[in-house]
Amino acid sequence: MTVKTTVFGYPKIGPQRELKKALEQYWSGKISQRKLIDEAEKLIIYNAKTIAQYEVDIIPSNDFSLYDFILDLSVMFNVIPERFRKIEDPLERYFAIARGSADAPASEMTKWFNTNYHYIVPEIEYGTEFELIENKALKEYELLKNNLNLKTKPVIVGPFTYLYCAKLKDYAYFLDRIASVYMGVLKELEESDVEEVQIDEPAMVIDLDNNDTQAIIDCYRKITSGLSKIKLYVQTYYESLSQYEKIVYELPVHGIGFDFVDGKENLENISKFGFPKDKTLIAGVVSGRDPWKTDFKEALKIIETLTKFTENIILSNSCPLMHLPVTVKNESLPEEILCLLSFANERLDELAVLKTAINEGKAPSEQNLSMKFTNPEVKKKISQIDENALCRKPSFSERYEKQMEILKLPVFPTTTIGSFPQTPEIRKARADYKAGRISLEEYESFIKDEIKKAIEIQQEIGLDVLVHGEFERTDMVEFFAERLQGFAITKNGWVQSYGSRCVRPPIIYGDVWRESPLTLKETLYAQSLTEKPVKGILTGPVTILQWSYPRKNVSKKEVAYQIALALKEEVVELEKAGIKIVQIDEPAFREGMPLKKAKVDEYFDWAIKSFKIVTSSVKAETQIHTHMCYSEFNDIIDKIYAMDADVISIEASRSKGEILKAFEKFKYDRGIGVGVYDIHSPRVPSTEEMIEIVKRAVKLIDKRLFWINPDCGLKTRAWQETIPSLKNMVKVAEIMRKEA
Ligand code: GLN
Ligand code: ZN
Repeated sequence: MTVKTTVFGYPKIGPQRELKKALEQYWSGKISQRKLIDEAEKLIIYNAKTIAQYEVDIIPSNDFSLYDFILDLSVMFNVIPERFRKIEDPLERYFAIARGSADAPASEMTKWFNTNYHYIVPEIEYGTEFELIENKALKEYELLKNNLNLKTKPVIVGPFTYLYCAKLKDYAYFLDRIASVYMGVLKELEESDVEEVQIDEPAMVIDLDNNDTQAIIDCYRKITSGLSKIKLYVQTYYESLSQYEKIVYELPVHGIGFDFVDGKENLENISKFGFPKDKTLIAGVVSGRDPWKTDFKEALKIIETLTKFTENIILSNSCPLMHLPVTVKNESLPEEILCLLSFANERLDELAVLKTAINEGKAPSEQNLSMKFTNPEVKKKISQIDENALCRKPSFSERYEKQMEILKLPVFPTTTIGSFPQTPEIRKARADYKAGRISLEEYESFIKDEIKKAIEIQQEIGLDVLVHGEFERTDMVEFFAERLQGFAITKNGWVQSYGSRCVRPPIIYGDVWRESPLTLKETLYAQSLTEKPVKGILTGPVTILQWSYPRKNVSKKEVAYQIALALKEEVVELEKAGIKIVQIDEPAFREGMPLKKAKVDEYFDWAIKSFKIVTSSVKAETQIHTHMCYSEFNDIIDKIYAMDADVISIEASRSKGEILKAFEKFKYDRGIGVGVYDIHSPRVPSTEEMIEIVKRAVKLIDKRLFWINPDCGLKTRAWQETIPSLKNMVKVAEIMRKEA
């Protein structure tokens, strides 16, 4: 038997974050639109060339996006919200939908499945007409054909996943209507001699009922009815395919792809139901999401099992490679860690090794993949956790009353989420310090000055609960990872989070513990400057885990508990030093939720307990806040409630108060601030529009529990928009207090 290889979802940002740089230069008016497009095309060509160098047989195209690949589809299909239609320039309009314009708020942005990638939610409703106005897949196919003489496989997100991303429920209705534009895209590709196309359908891993499954199959029948020879491969990932038997046998496509890294049940299903003779199986055997080298023996074992059921196998990555940095080359981590790692380019190499192993019967060389970074002290502490004793006392209402008395806060207290603008000066000071151009003392005194300025500004704006501003943090996870034991930080391991924003996920390679204080110095300094309460801000255990690369062979639960124990020590010290409010940010709380319903309860059990490990030992007088954003929270309000935080700040502005619907059903009787403005957009929100959200909310939430805050941290903003925005926000509170 011989196999071929393919890949998909290669990182879009470029080896040196070229895309980020070009986008930001364009947005700030430093380069022209032509130049931006040139840069993008250079990257598309460079990426394809790189993939080709690794002897991948089927090279993808249309893997690239200037901002987001779901937004790309919306624009292709003319799903453009009315408020943006008057912007004539197509690219300006594209960015306006993503980022907002002076008079039109951006479309909602939310997390892509259980990852930290964010996409722009298509605004589709009954009556939306889909129309193919542009074929981006064809354009990128031709770009590579003309420049590299390569015949590639265009990759496009499929109709079901696109509609799932639009958060629609009535799939049958919309699938029926969207089929024709997909057929249009594919027909044009076919007419341009494209031989094969990959259609990504990760949404096929969520629990599907019979009706939805039938609607999907009908939609694909409709799409393919207009095609003659083009081969379609449907790719699923992040979990195992749902409704395996029906989909695999009835979906009218040439091949189906499976994730064998995060979808363990796929192999069981194949063993149980077999695999159709007339289809090709794309076997995702090298991970697109975790950074650990593929265990060749394990991968070959999976492939061997598959060969019992089919001869037609193409090897591939398990899910888009965009969740990995470009390469481990040039990273200077300790050798014992480095030798275990494999990023996107190394995955391409691994696929070549596996292909040779199968096609030429050449066994891969022996690997030593053992990880031995353990600490018996940590293990002991974990074993001593009493899961049933993680309970704050007394009850919330008693606690809250005490807290508010001590804190002397008015009704509708105002606060922010923690970070203030990370200005070019701050970034420069940090770079200077890292490069040794300034000393630690100089750097720390610079940060102190920034904290002082931020406290003065907040007092002048009239906020009630202040923050120190997080100027010492590059990133809310990286900062903690740098200070905790068990984490490794890469130099250039960037992955895209949304648009031009990239993060460098730390790598958890060993047991986690806290050797010295994490946030104490800056928080106490800020508190020393003001009479008003300053809240300490920590990133929570689930988020630190979720936004890091997970450890291999240690359960997520155990790692979360280890991080939680370390954070608990910090909270206890903050409290001892007189800090009265501590906020534990958990923006990734929902993101960690498994895609299959059957696995959800187990996840929330340990996720909630990790939060409680951090918070449950504080005094009743100490107020615990948490913060969450840019996810779907409506169906997990009960889980959030179970975390037993005194106050939660939660994003509500970009999803247009969707979260409020949840409070119609669930009585949330704890402190809550629904974010009143979208911090991802540079526009200054008016008092009127913020008041509207607050007024809607207080119909459902007790006034005495209501807080007023932006929907997330302000680090990506500039002071010139932050100050007027917050002033308008404080006015909201003043007006509400008068009315109360
Ligand atoms: N405290 C963090 C900040 O203000 C929270 C960021 C987040 O939720 N992503 O930046
Ligand atoms: Zn946030």
